Amino acid sequence: MFIGGEWTPSNGDQTQEIINPATGKVIAHVPKGTEQDVDRAVAAARKAYHETWFDSTPRDRSERLLKLASAIEEHGDELARLESENVGKPLAPTRSEEIPPIVDCFRFFAGAARALEGRAAGEYMTGFTSFLRRESLGVVGSIAPWNYPLMMAAWKLGPALAAGNTVVLKPSEWTPLTALRLAELAADILPPGVLNVITGDGEPVGAGLVRHPGVSMVSLTGDVATGKEVARAAASTLKRVHLELGGKAPVIVFDDADLDKVVEWIKIGGFFNAGQDCTAATRIIAGPKIHEKLLGDLVPAISSLKVGDPMSDDTEMGPLVSEEQAVRVTGFVDRARKAGAEVLTGGARIKKAGSWYSPTVVVPHGPDDEIVMKEVFGPVVTVQRFGDEEQALKWANGVDYGLAASVWTRDVGRALRMARRLQFGTVWINTHIPLVNEMPHGGYKQSGYGKDMSIYSLEEYTQIKHVMASLD
Ligand code: NAD
Repeated sequence: MFIGGEWTPSNGDQTQEIINPATGKVIAHVPKGTEQDVDRAVAAARKAYHETWFDSTPRDRSERLLKLASAIEEHGDELARLESENVGKPLAPTRSEEIPPIVDCFRFFAGAARALEGRAAGEYMTGFTSFLRRESLGVVGSIAPWNYPLMMAAWKLGPALAAGNTVVLKPSEWTPLTALRLAELAADILPPGVLNVITGDGEPVGAGLVRHPGVSMVSLTGDVATGKEVARAAASTLKRVHLELGGKAPVIVFDDADLDKVVEWIKIGGFFNAGQDCTAATRIIAGPKIHEKLLGDLVPAISSLKVGDPMSDDTEMGPLVSEEQAVRVTGFVDRARKAGAEVLTGGARIKKAGSWYSPTVVVPHGPDDEIVMKEVFGPVVTVQRFGDEEQALKWANGVDYGLAASVWTRDVGRALRMARRLQFGTVWINTHIPLVNEMPHGGYKQSGYGKDMSIYSLEEYTQIKHVMASLD
């Protein structure tokens, strides 16, 4: 683990096997951290906060983040390979679609660190001057998921460090390798203790960070159930909580949509990273006149996805991240089948070493089926047929999640009307999945609260102080 600028063993003696899901083989061992390790990491982060980072200037932090961005860029191939081996992602898109936005994330927050805004100072009461200070919080506990390990680390570290906080990062127990390599790259760039990376399970390491009185804020990206547990546990110290949780994105296709474009984007949006994406285009709700033609075009497009060796340049989809995840996805599809759903393609494990599942299209039995309402987090899309705009909207909004949605139509008025009424933190029109560092990303409803990316995320990692002075 990386604590206080040094590699250090865990206080405990247990290790965790890290598996390449494309082969099922063990590729590394990392320590299973303990509550004492959490204590050591938080102590190192607090020391760094008080002794160095608190007094750093925005320019200093900005320059260091720019250096970190360049180090990631320079080691981009190596990081992409490590991510690909650990998560099972196809290497080529990891290199081209994930590393550049990660580099850009650090560059964005390097700039943003120097551009924080607030209300103008002024005499709001005669004889007194008021002004604002936007201040850091202290130590942030950042808890990351396994689907985009390095990108989620970047989304958390960029704003937290830019705002002047120090961080203890806990990557997922399944995918810690790129976060550890990032710590190594940052070792010569950030003062010791500003970034600490500790490995291990949700309990005791993640939960230990949430409980710790020395941690001022916890940022979690993960499952809705984990988010609820974190929010409950954080209540005992009333620490600030930032939750980026699951999703179940509707893809509303009106009869006038450009069908070729719809199919092309569902292929990407539903199956990138084997569908293990919180914004994945999983829930297709198609108009009465386009529904049949959409199925006719979509099914062959999905069944022809190239599934195979993540290291091969032409591979479009790799395995799921773990055996547990493959079992989970299998359970969802099998239960849907039993409930009367029709599986038009896929719907089975691919029988070879590793955790593989075939790209799947399901026509559910009814609009309230589990497979429609719950996040599957795998290469599975459902297709429903709606009657009119009101029904499409009702179905789209009728889930507990509220992370992202897309609307497909050539009618501008209808697209804007839907964008207004959809209860999701991101709404795409005639596209699905692209994000940019300048714009916020975060959930409505049970997809959580707090924004990632953008200046709004930087603000989340700060607190505002009113200073009022008498002019006498
Ligand atoms: P998870 O909730 O199982 O784990 C996430 C992290 O939380 C891991 O590091 C885990 O060790 C830790 N954790 C588990 N229990 C904890 C506890 N009690 N206290 C503190 N930490 C704990 O999620 P996952 O399976 O790793 O990731 C998949 C989920 O993440 C999906 O639901 C997905 O939608 C969501 N996700 C959301 C976004 C977003 O931006 N909203 C992005 C990526 C993934």
